[in-house]
Formats: sequence, structure tokens, C-alpha cells
Amino acid sequence: MSNQVDTLSAESPVILMPTSIEKAVELKSHYGLNGEFVSGATLLQLQWLNGRKTPEQIISLEQLTELKSIQFDQHKGELSIGALTPLGSYQTHKILKEFPIICTALKSIAAPGIRNRGTIGGNIMGRVGDLIPFLSALSAKLVFQDVKGVKQIEIWDWFQQTSNSDFLLSHILIPLDRDMLESHTFYRKVGRRETFTAAILTVSGKIKWDEEGKIINAKLAVGGGDNKPMRLEKTEQLIIGRNAIHLDWKTIFSTVAEEFVAAEDAFVSSSYRKKVAANLIVAELQSQFAKE
Ligand SMILES: Cc1cc2nc3c(=O)[nH]c(=O)nc-3n(C[C@H](O)[C@H](O)[C@H](O)COP(=O)(O)OP(=O)(O)OC[C@H]3O[C@@H](n4cnc5c(N)ncnc54)[C@H](O)[C@@H]3O)c2cc1C
Repeated sequence: MSNQVDTLSAESPVILMPTSIEKAVELKSHYGLNGEFVSGATLLQLQWLNGRKTPEQIISLEQLTELKSIQFDQHKGELSIGALTPLGSYQTHKILKEFPIICTALKSIAAPGIRNRGTIGGNIMGRVGDLIPFLSALSAKLVFQDVKGVKQIEIWDWFQQTSNSDFLLSHILIPLDRDMLESHTFYRKVGRRETFTAAILTVSGKIKWDEEGKIINAKLAVGGGDNKPMRLEKTEQLIIGRNAIHLDWKTIFSTVAEEFVAAEDAFVSSSYRKKVAANLIVAELQSQFAKE
């Protein structure tokens, strides 16, 4: 079943409001490039104003309430977030509130008005959002649906593939240990002012170590603003397998600075962004491992 909303002029897009995921993906398959999924429309509206072609059919996901559910599976240690969850939900949802690092990341995006409408799924599917590097560091998986069925893929693998706009993102699955004793997760966003402004960069990471202090896993990612989201795989390899007390801070700093392909604009140079990212990552590691 789907409702159709009257539009104002012949050029205005037709707004379709499917009430099931199955109907939404069927509409997308039918209209192809002439139909576009829309969640909060905060990114799309900006892009339409900047010249992106408006689609003939808008497939609004607004009525798909199953895409708004948030659940924590204790047994699997996995948080499932519906793609239509507003960015601002960290303020009200009791499960999200139990994961302060996720709240910090959501709170750093845009201003309250945008966070009330903009969604977590739209942030990811726009392919430029701050959540992409953050969720990559957390090894999050994306659950997609199209007319052929459901599939799961790690967010970092998905991001590296060319986009397939026929898939509807239904949920984001985040492996999370409530007991964070043996791991450290961080997210830092640097802007030009305290008030809302586009980011200079974001850094995110999750580091795990064993009882002897040997680092057994590390995921590090950068992005934000004009920086294309990227994992810092050379730096990860540099620290995995090392005992934390033997980390070489200078080499970690130079490896981050070397591998981060940082954006450059009239206000902030690429080399400044590289130094900021390297400083933040070294500081986060030192907060856990540097000797007193
Ligand atoms: C003033 C302003 C400031 C902003 N600041 C930030 C910022 O600091 N950081 C940041 O990351 N972003 C920022 N944004 C961008 C945007 O608001 C966010 O990325 C937001 O999360 C997008 O979500 P949305 O629901 O509005 O997406 P939409 O605009 O509805 O959609 C974005 C894209 O995702 C696709 N899409 C949406 N939902 C799905 C789905 N479930 N399945 C498949 N495809 C889907 C759409 O087709 C579209 O291509 C800002 C925007 C504005 C206007």
C-alpha cells in the first residue's frame, strides 16, 4: 500500500509514501534513477539547491516505522539502529543514552534543528556524513534491502564500492561491548569555531588490547568536512601486535600524517589537518598507554 500526495505544479516531483519496506524497494526498482529515497531531506535539499537534479518521484521513507527501532542484543553484544532514526535521538532514546560515545558523535553533527529531521541512515547514504568514518572504526555493518532480498555488508567495504542507489538501508548493526575495560573508543570533531561550522576534520578509533597490554585490534578513521572518509590502515598495522607500553609515538605521529589524504581549502591547509589528526590520535593512545 502507498499513499500519493498531490503536488503543486507539473514540474514538482511526485511524492510517494510507501507504508512497507517491500513497497518502497518495489517503487525504487520500478522508477530506477527517476525515483529517489528521501528520509529527513536535510542533505538532499542542500544538494537540490546547489544544482543536483530533483527526481521525478520522491520515495519518502517517513512512514516506515520499522526503520525507527533501536535495540540492544545482550547476547550478541550488538546495537541495532533503524536507518530512519533521527540524529537527535541521542537526547531521548534510553538505549542510545547508554552508549555515550555514540551520543557524542550524533551530537557533533549540524545544529539541533537539522538533527531533529536528519537521520542516521541519510548521513551514511549521502556518502559524505561524519558517521561514516566513526562507524567504520566501530566495524558497523549495514543491512540493505532491495526487491531481491536482504544483505549485510561492513560499512567500510560498502563505502569503497561504487554506490548502488537501488538498495534501501534498513538498519545499522554496531558490535559493542558494554564492558569497555579492555578497549578504548574515541570520536573527536574539530571545527573552526565552537558554534556550528563545517568540520576541519574528525578522528575516530577503537583499540582493543589483552591482559598483557598487547594491542590485538585497532581501527582508526578520519573524515569530516571536505575530507573523504578513510581508514588509517598503515597506522593500524603499525600498532597491532605491539605491546602498548612500547609504542613509538613519533612514528605513529608521522605515519598518520603521511597516510591521511587531507583536504585543502582557503582557510585550512592540508598539512595543518594532517598535524591535527596525528596529534589527536597520539593523544588518544597516550591517554590509555603512556607511562605516568
Ligand atoms: C546546515 C546543515 C549542516 C549540516 N551539518 C552536517 C555535519 O556537521 N555533519 C554531517 O555529517 N552532515 C551534516 N549535514 C548534512 C545532513 O544534514 C546529514 O548528513 C543528515 O544526517 C542527512 O540525513 P537525511 O535524513 O536528511 O538524509 P536525506 O537528505 O533524506 O538523504 C541523503 C541521501 O541518502 C539517501 N537515503 C536516505 N535514507 C536512505 C535509506 N534509508 N536508504 C537508502 N538511501 C537513503 C537519499 O536518497 C540521499 O541520497 C548538514 C546539513 C545542513 C543543511
